[in-house]
Amino acid sequence: MSWSFETDTEFQQELDWIEKFTREEIEPLDLVFREPGDPWDPASPAAKAMAPLRAIVKEKRLWACHIGPELGGEGYGQVKLGLMNEILGRSRFGPSVFGCQAPDSGNAEILAHFGTPDQKARFLQPLLNGEIASCYSMTEPQAGADPAEFTCVATRDGDEWVINGEKWFASHARFSEFLLVMVVTDPDAPIHQGASIVLVEKDTPGMEIIRNSAVGPYVEQGDGVHAYIRFTNCRVPAENLLGEEGQGFIVAQTRLGGGRVHHAMRSVGVLKKAMDMMCERVLSRTTKGELLAQKQLTQEKIADSYTQILQYRLHVLYTAWLIDKHKEYNREVRKEIAAIKAATPKVLHEVIYRAMHLHGSLGMSDETPLMTMWANIPELGIVDGPSEVHKITVARTVLREYQPAEGLFPSYHTPTLREAAMKKYGHYLVEG
Ligand SMILES: Cc1cc2nc3c(=O)[nH]c(=O)nc-3n(C[C@H](O)[C@H](O)[C@H](O)COP(=O)(O)OP(=O)(O)OC[C@H]3O[C@@H](n4cnc5c(N)ncnc54)[C@H](O)[C@@H]3O)c2cc1C
Repeated sequence: MSWSFETDTEFQQELDWIEKFTREEIEPLDLVFREPGDPWDPASPAAKAMAPLRAIVKEKRLWACHIGPELGGEGYGQVKLGLMNEILGRSRFGPSVFGCQAPDSGNAEILAHFGTPDQKARFLQPLLNGEIASCYSMTEPQAGADPAEFTCVATRDGDEWVINGEKWFASHARFSEFLLVMVVTDPDAPIHQGASIVLVEKDTPGMEIIRNSAVGPYVEQGDGVHAYIRFTNCRVPAENLLGEEGQGFIVAQTRLGGGRVHHAMRSVGVLKKAMDMMCERVLSRTTKGELLAQKQLTQEKIADSYTQILQYRLHVLYTAWLIDKHKEYNREVRKEIAAIKAATPKVLHEVIYRAMHLHGSLGMSDETPLMTMWANIPELGIVDGPSEVHKITVARTVLREYQPAEGLFPSYHTPTLREAAMKKYGHYLVEG
């Protein structure tokens, strides 16, 4: 039996370097580049600023570490990626500088598993090199959490698929080289056997971006990065269907499972950053003759935050360890992924609120990163499926391990248990 919470010395040195590099070289990017497409749009000034940093990361062999060596990554697995991501999560730019940013990391996994050699050469390699962006488009204007309501359809016509319908909140579509689109290929089958994923290249005739929504009120309306798309007789070659026809959700699982864990890993970084700010502030501010840090109500906030972050972090790393162990998203892994996915907005909400609150007016202002962190919380309860749906998965999986009581009273009914226990040990009482 082996249990270890230690990181090997060699990788710890890498993590120490990543921490310094992130604080000194990457975090300043957040203060300069604030366009909605940053850091994902390859044509933006931010991409130019990232280029030398990416070169250093590649030189250090820390680029796209989640991808196997056959595709140019280091194949470090999820635990090491988790340890890296909890540092990179401090900055919006961190994952992009290290080649593990959503949604490209998940889309690369789909192409790696299901793409043709030609698709891999044209799209996967440039994506892994960080030269192009990609989009995953599943949600529709009338349906997100419940895929059974999807209506965007692809019909086979000779050696082409013809797509008709609408998609909604397709992040980064406007600057992506290609989109992976979930389409209904058999409207008569249940959706989990009747949907497929097709690759649609940018500028394919029949694909039109109606508008680009943004998250929050800070971006000029229409200038966001989440596209509302309409497909009208949009034709793509038959080989653009990835995986088997009707297996879209199995193909999607390749990216959605990992994507959710990666969000959680980065959220650990956000939480630690909020904790750092909270602790520095309470050690710096004097009220009523003592530091905020000396007040017991402050200490409770620090203690609760510390405990919640540690519990969450261990759960995230445990999930990463399970993925590395099983090398697939089996039921056990899916349960933990769903659990941390649902836990994410709640822990962020509680810790960031305390951090903001302890900063007083400064915490509400635009002069610390806290308000931006706060504004980003709600989307983590929605993106990749709402918390309710993930809690349903957790509860269903947990309940599978239990049986109903056989009789009128539960299996832990004390009088019944005592009767059996007395038969086993009662004679000791009589014998004295
Ligand atoms: C920032 C951001 C980026 C996104 N990027 C993408 C992307 O790149 N590609 C893409 O395809 N989609 C993307 N989405 C969309 C996202 O996947 C959907 O918003 C999500 O699946 C929920 O779908 P919906 O918005 O239609 O909400 P609905 O399905 O309408 O759900 C609304 C609410 O109803 C409740 N609810 C729903 N189902 C249940 C249930 N079974 N039990 C109890 N309550 C329930 C929940 O409270 C839920 O929040 C993105 C969303 C955000 C916020």
